[in-house]
Amino acid sequence: MTIYEERFSGYLKEKKLKLTPERHIILDGIFSFHRHFDVEELYERLRKNGEKLSRATIYRAIPLFIESGFIKEILHCRGKASYEHVFGHEHHDHLLCIKCGRIIEFKDDKIEELQDKVCKRYGFKPVEHRLGIRGYCKRCIAIAKIGGGIYGLNTIRNRRKSRNC
Ligand SMILES: [Zn+2]
Ligand SMILES: [Zn+2]
Ligand SMILES: [Zn+2]
Repeated sequence: MTIYEERFSGYLKEKKLKLTPERHIILDGIFSFHRHFDVEELYERLRKNGEKLSRATIYRAIPLFIESGFIKEILHCRGKASYEHVFGHEHHDHLLCIKCGRIIEFKDDKIEELQDKVCKRYGFKPVEHRLGIRGYCKRCIAIAKIGGGIYGLNTIRNRRKSRNC
C-alpha cells in the first residue's frame, strides 16, 4: 500500500466509509497525474487503463477527495473545474489561459507575504488561499495578434463570459 492509499483508507475509516474498488481506482488515477486534471481527463485515463467507471461515478467521488484534503479545485474555467492533488505538492498559485486551457504554476514570495500582511491587519488566521489569474497566455496572445489582434481576444473574451468563465 502506498502512503496515499494508507492515508485515504484511514480517512474513510474515520468517516465510517469503505475503500471500495471504485474509490481505489479513482485514487490511483488521481495520483497518476503529476499536474492538473479535470474529470474528463481522469475519465479518459482510467478508460485507457481498461477501467470501466462512468463519469457519474467519478463526479460523485470527487467531493470525498476534496473533503479529505487530497485534492483541491484550482479554478473553474471553460465550464469545468481543474483539480490537482495537494498531498506531496508544495504550495503554488496559478495563471490560467482561458483560450487554450494552459495552466502555469508560480510562487512569488512577495505576494505570499502581502497576503499574510492583509490577514494580520484584520486579525485573521489564514488556513489556505488560492490565487488564480485568468487571462491569455503568451502563445494565445501571439496567435491573436496574427489573426485579428486585440479584436480577436475581445471576441474570445465575450464568448467565454457567456459560458461562465
Ligand atoms: Zn500562494
Ligand atoms: Zn493560451
Ligand atoms: Zn498547480
